[in-house]
Amino acid sequence: MRKKLFLTTLSIILFTLILSIVSVNFVFKQQFANYITQSNETIINQLPSRISAIYLRNDSWDIVALEQLNNDLPVDVYITLTDLQGNVIMNLENPMNAMHGGMMNMMGLDYSVKEWKTKELPIVGADQTIATAQIRYPEVARILNPQDEKFSAAIFHSLIFAGVLALMIGMLMSYWMSRRLVAPLQSLTEAANRIGSGQFDERVPVNSKDEIGRLANAFNAMADRLKHQEYLRKQFSIDIAHELRTPLTSIRSFIEAFEDGVLPPSPDNLAIINSEISRMVGLASDLKDLNTAEIGEIRISPQPINIVSLVGNVIRSLYALFQDKDLKVDFIHKVQDIAISGDERLLTRLFYNLIHNAYKYTETGGEIRIEVDDLLDEVQIRIKDTGIGIPESDLANIFERFYRTDRSRARETGGSGIGLALVKQIVLLHHGTISVESTVGKGSLFTVRLPKTKTKD
Ligand code: ADP
Repeated sequence: MRKKLFLTTLSIILFTLILSIVSVNFVFKQQFANYITQSNETIINQLPSRISAIYLRNDSWDIVALEQLNNDLPVDVYITLTDLQGNVIMNLENPMNAMHGGMMNMMGLDYSVKEWKTKELPIVGADQTIATAQIRYPEVARILNPQDEKFSAAIFHSLIFAGVLALMIGMLMSYWMSRRLVAPLQSLTEAANRIGSGQFDERVPVNSKDEIGRLANAFNAMADRLKHQEYLRKQFSIDIAHELRTPLTSIRSFIEAFEDGVLPPSPDNLAIINSEISRMVGLASDLKDLNTAEIGEIRISPQPINIVSLVGNVIRSLYALFQDKDLKVDFIHKVQDIAISGDERLLTRLFYNLIHNAYKYTETGGEIRIEVDDLLDEVQIRIKDTGIGIPESDLANIFERFYRTDRSRARETGGSGIGLALVKQIVLLHHGTISVESTVGKGSLFTVRLPKTKTKD
């Protein structure tokens, strides 16, 4: 990743540099050629007066003096001097022209002038025109003059030097930047490895508020949850051992008493053994359901269900328990039939767990109120009790597996802390929601909402 980041920034720098050097060089050459063209034109425009001065000196054409003009002419400028009858007096050009042409040919370069310009300037004598200068010169001058070439090369070299300097600074910066960006990811990877090997106290420092900082925050939150889950798992192993040992010890004591003839295997005694076994079976099936729901293996086989009668059946199945505790139970529903689509066995388990909890955590003589309401797209089931309530600090956790508000008391009531975790999973499987409100000493209210089957109009 660090290497990738470094190479990417480096290639971006390199690309931009080459592009800017090439374009600056191109623009410079063009501007420089324009400048030379302009100064050539100035020289050309001064020619007629210089030629006329040479003529006027002797009142005739002084070929030697004219030849001297050749050296002052810009490269690539060709002048044909003709008299008024059209006879050529002389051809003028810079002696370097021939040399350059030869050199270019030797180097195999096609460096020829593409566009030519021509001009005809009259040479005026004492009082009348004495000759004409036909001038041919490049539309854009070539940079051929050694000094111009030197200047242009110097500019190019400075450009290259600046480019190399920028490249080196860029390399250093991209190396530093890639290290800075990747370092927190490296420490995250190391922390993740340590968590993977069971060190759940591992955390990473959060030094920024950017994406990396947010990732570190999310990572720490995940580590917190893992640590909490690990704590719950350990606690659960202790609890489950206890949950199983208590009924097993009780069953063994009964059997020993039967063997020793201390107790008769009467229906009452056998019923106690039976209820202990039922408790263990219930625990085992809760655990199995929760695990399969959590790993997403429970496939609900949706079927049309009348939720009012399903809740009614659950209440009826618990009737004997309500009577034992002398609980007043109200079942309120305005309509007899609200259709939803869901899994009957799981929904029965969902409401059984909630209503059984209401029974478990409500003192003798208390009240339980179960209401089913038909909302627009959903059905709402509320289970309210006047029981012991749940401390506010526990409310956020009670849907977590193995969570119990008061361990010793929950043990007395035979809970293992998986009932509500399973309830939550079943609600999620049915695309519903569940919430809880509670006041210690006053009671609790669990609200479940499930989507209704869409009726065709
Ligand atoms: P348990 O098998 O221990 O009842 P649950 O997952 O069903 O496990 O419930 C988790 C914890 O939430 C319980 O141990 C209990 O402390 C608390 N709880 C659940 N329902 C109620 C309720 N109706 N009133 C008071 N406390 C409740």
